[in-house]
Amino acid sequence: MTTSPSRATETDLGRTRRARKVGRVLAETHPDAHCELDHSSPLELAVATILSAQCTDKKVNEVTPKLFARYPTAADYAGADRAELEELIRPTGFYRNKTNSLIRLGQALVERYDGRVPGKLVDLVTLPGIGRKTANVILGNAFDVPGITVDTHFQRLVHRWRLTAETDPVKIEHAVGAMFPKRDWTMLSHRIIFHGRRVCHARKPACGACTLAKLCPSYGTGPTEAAVAAKLLKGPRARDLAAAAGVDPALVPQQAILAEVP
Ligand code: SF4
Repeated sequence: MTTSPSRATETDLGRTRRARKVGRVLAETHPDAHCELDHSSPLELAVATILSAQCTDKKVNEVTPKLFARYPTAADYAGADRAELEELIRPTGFYRNKTNSLIRLGQALVERYDGRVPGKLVDLVTLPGIGRKTANVILGNAFDVPGITVDTHFQRLVHRWRLTAETDPVKIEHAVGAMFPKRDWTMLSHRIIFHGRRVCHARKPACGACTLAKLCPSYGTGPTEAAVAAKLLKGPRARDLAAAAGVDPALVPQQAILAEVP
């Protein structure tokens, strides 16, 4: 596989076109992309997103069924017994801070929004424990309002693709958002995060088994040899990911398929 030409002279239009190609390839590469936090209401998603700080989605999903059954409404969090709530969410780490956030979130929702999670960014960001990133996750996945979620994976990948040089998450959100139709923002975020978790890892990205190799100025950041790169793919679809990149799926070991996606 060859490295794409230098991006030094790329025009804004050229970059936007390349970004959209990246978006199309990602859609084909990750047809299963979705919000990986289990939820069935805006409140559950708000709670799960607060718990997901410094914790894997998988771990959060292990904790939430019991939590959601015990605290079905905002008023339940507002009036929660701190020790009991702490114990339930302890496996997600930073449980004292997260307990504070959940109780305060419940109180704010009861006091200001009749116990309901509001569906507007300006309101969501005023709630305890909910920053802009969390607000966009909630809007995109619980209210169908398009939102871009700039998490650590999103930042790393758009920088590797040289779509923007911005480092501030809000500026990244605006710069990348301007390159894509608004209706695509939520799914684009899921696909980028999926790619970051399964292929384009922070350390040792699987460049030699990546569907974006021809579009990526950072091709070569990780191993380019197919046999080495195939071992770096992660998750149940690792062999499909290899095949999509033109790599023999048999090169993907079973342990890659079973590997926990971060
Ligand atoms: S894995 Fe390599 S080629 Fe693929 S997007 Fe990441 S840096 Fe680019």
